[in-house]
Amino acid sequence: MDTSTLRHQDINHVWHPFTPMQEYATEETPIIVSGDGFELIDSDGQRYLDGISALWCNVHGFRVPAIDDAIRDQLDRVGHSTLLGLSNEPAIRLAKELVDRTPEGLNRVFYSDSGATSVEAALKIAYQYHAQKPGGPERRDLFISVAGAYHGDTIGSVSLGAMNLFHATYRDLLFNKLTVPSPVAFRLPVGHSRESYLEHCFAELERTIVENHARVAAFVIEPLVQGAAGILVHPPGYLKRVRELTADYDIPLIADEVAVGFGRTGTMFACEQENVTPDLMCLAKGLTGGYLPVAATLATDAIFEAFLDVPWAGKTFYHGHTFTGNPLGCAAALASLDLFDTNDVLGNIRSNATRLSTRLTGFAARCSSVGEIRHKGIMAGIELVKDAESLEPFTADRRIGHKVTLAARCRGVIVRPLGDTIVLMPAPAMPGELVERLCDNVFDAIENVLSEER
Ligand SMILES: *Cc1c(COP(=O)(O)O)cnc(C)c1O
Repeated sequence: MDTSTLRHQDINHVWHPFTPMQEYATEETPIIVSGDGFELIDSDGQRYLDGISALWCNVHGFRVPAIDDAIRDQLDRVGHSTLLGLSNEPAIRLAKELVDRTPEGLNRVFYSDSGATSVEAALKIAYQYHAQKPGGPERRDLFISVAGAYHGDTIGSVSLGAMNLFHATYRDLLFNKLTVPSPVAFRLPVGHSRESYLEHCFAELERTIVENHARVAAFVIEPLVQGAAGILVHPPGYLKRVRELTADYDIPLIADEVAVGFGRTGTMFACEQENVTPDLMCLAKGLTGGYLPVAATLATDAIFEAFLDVPWAGKTFYHGHTFTGNPLGCAAALASLDLFDTNDVLGNIRSNATRLSTRLTGFAARCSSVGEIRHKGIMAGIELVKDAESLEPFTADRRIGHKVTLAARCRGVIVRPLGDTIVLMPAPAMPGELVERLCDNVFDAIENVLSEER
């Protein structure tokens, strides 16, 4: 089909996620027809370096022979079969791999198909756990999450979320939760220094847990980096402190590693950096190398065992999705994990993390509209502001972040901002010279947009 027909049908029939559709209809958005290495190719043959890992999930690039072959091989066996009352080989092998690679103690794998569903499963597991745990049932109906949290778009995960832009619309539909302040603030509340604010956050964390623990079903956190909030990097020790307090007060900890898992922060899982084992861990995005929708909620034996009894005791986890444990997706995930080892992807991440750090620091020094650079591993956010002294933002109607996206696209690079924070999220296996190219073009796009806006 030619580009204009495709575009016409796209605008008339496809409702894009997180997309203002009125504006979308006026823009000539690339229509991707193939991928090659770390580039995407559109219906006009134009190539784009993917600077956001296909929205934070791609790991080894596109059309990776080992993953393509693993999927084809599985396709020759069976494309899908259910995990309800049956099992399948790739799902079994992947569960074992995940147990071996995640922090010690997470021995049980519950599959679903997206980050949101992995969080949703964790919520229900935590809630039901308290009703069935040894030592007597407890009714715990509150969750604690961190301000600015993003855990997905189903109603349960939105209930945990704390981002006004995405979540306020649905307020009436959501269950109650408690929110602790995020331990990082771009604009500090009046009267606070960085140090006093951090102290305040630790104090609030402790107070919230101490006062409410008897009602708290679980504490949910994006470990080390809050992604959708704008790549907010937590100070060292925060996750550890959350783990200590939740353990002291017998509150299960749910680590949402959907964004940070699979190397993004520099280690395979973010929890490793603070020696934390959560009670439940959510994995999705990078799990299949960014190929297919498979997600997993890992649980400790202690959680799992509360669901064991004779069938008629009613302790079963009555939850699941049709495509749970899809064999094609699990085969892709196994191939992706294998590539982490054979290609030393974590080593590549470390060198690209250093490269990004150098490049970002250099850019911040020469661009007067950079309010803040936030960076951990291969996740980076460049917050653009109207005035770097006062941190006065650009007004929303200026669409600065969006304009940078369009300018980057003209330079053959795909990025997607969070408001006026330009996100760089190169794939874990992206070669260093492509990360350089990504930086060059994005920085150039930012400078170009800013010069036209002045
Ligand atoms: C993206 C994301 C999710 C949601 O994942 P989906 O696959 O889009 O449902 C959940 N948690 C975090 C931290 C994420 O970044």
